[in-house]
Amino acid sequence: MTIQNHILIGLGDIMTLRLTCPSCHSVIGSPPEKWQNIPLDCPNCHAEWMRGGSPQYESIRVFCRTLAEMRSHEKNIRCEIQLELSASGRCV
Ligand SMILES: [Zn+2]
Repeated sequence: MTIQNHILIGLGDIMTLRLTCPSCHSVIGSPPEKWQNIPLDCPNCHAEWMRGGSPQYESIRVFCRTLAEMRSHEKNIRCEIQLELSASGRCV
């Protein structure tokens, strides 16, 4: 039997955006509002993560800016915004 669980989180529940290096597995994280300069490489092993100005870099930058803006305007929106996450588990 397969059980599917879903987790609902509000915008205020998002504490940090975490970046994990695939080479050394170090993790850096910061609230989305503080991601002014997204690192282009790992601060620990200096493996390149992305190029500045690339579509990947821009999408992360826009995501952080949009999330920060949505959180700042959330009190004036007359509905609750939530993200639904999959948390599937297998029951034996
Ligand atoms: Zn690294």
